[in-house]
Amino acid sequence: MTEAAFAPQDAAALLRWYVDHGIDETIGEEAIDRFALPPPAAVAAAAASAASTPASSPAAPTPIRAPAAPAVVRAPVPLESPQLAEDAREVSRRATTIAELEEAVRAFEGCALKRTAKNTVFADGVAGAPVMIVGEAPGADEDRLGKPFVGVSGQLMDRMFAAIGMSRERDLYITNILFWRPPGNRTPTLSEQAICLAFTRRHIELAKPKIVVLAGGTAVKAVLNTTEGITRLRGKWTTLTLDDGSEVPALPTFHPAYLLRTPASKRQSWADLLSLDKRLKDLGVR
Ligand code: URA
Repeated sequence: MTEAAFAPQDAAALLRWYVDHGIDETIGEEAIDRFALPPPAAVAAAAASAASTPASSPAAPTPIRAPAAPAVVRAPVPLESPQLAEDAREVSRRATTIAELEEAVRAFEGCALKRTAKNTVFADGVAGAPVMIVGEAPGADEDRLGKPFVGVSGQLMDRMFAAIGMSRERDLYITNILFWRPPGNRTPTLSEQAICLAFTRRHIELAKPKIVVLAGGTAVKAVLNTTEGITRLRGKWTTLTLDDGSEVPALPTFHPAYLLRTPASKRQSWADLLSLDKRLKDLGVR
């Protein structure tokens, strides 16, 4: 009789451990046993030796072969290629409306995150609203529903804006610097950010908000092209200059997911919201 590898409670504990560590996606149908693969140097040496030795040579050593990769493992896109970000810029420049841009994003195959995401998460709220919120990337709920900021952090964000009388049904247009969920909610790589950011900058140009709110350090760093941290930048108004030469006031603020983890910081976010409210009134928008 074959014994089960894990008792059911141990298997459940292992799955919980995976989820706690952000591993909640199956990227391939088959797990790859990386311990069974020879080190890359050995594979390269074996390949070189196999290539330089005639197959019929009696002295030919048996080449070490890497086990065949499971068929479901897809070739990775060379993500470090700056050409992909240039392609994204080129495609996004051709869009003259938000609808065209959304179509271009949905058709774009240059970001490998699209392969593991369930949905393209483009935007929610009112296109053309006075305030455009730019967050980081879709999480599991956003990926499932195809809309930004619909999970717990998005619900907190809705409540915060409701406190100054603003809603995504009327006054807000919401997007992210990434349109696809990074597996396990990992921080997007600089290359993934650069590719999607080309679309996001065009998105801001086409939506023409009166104010952009940048939610969280990753969005702030990417959109403002700065290395300065969110703790120093939050609450400080700045001007975002877009590629068409237009300028829009931008307000960096904490990400709502950070506020869920650090409720004491809500006080500073409340100050940011009051500052936003005042600026909108100064602009005659409210
Ligand atoms: N966090 C983000 O930055 N964006 C979302 O859409 C959801 C969570």
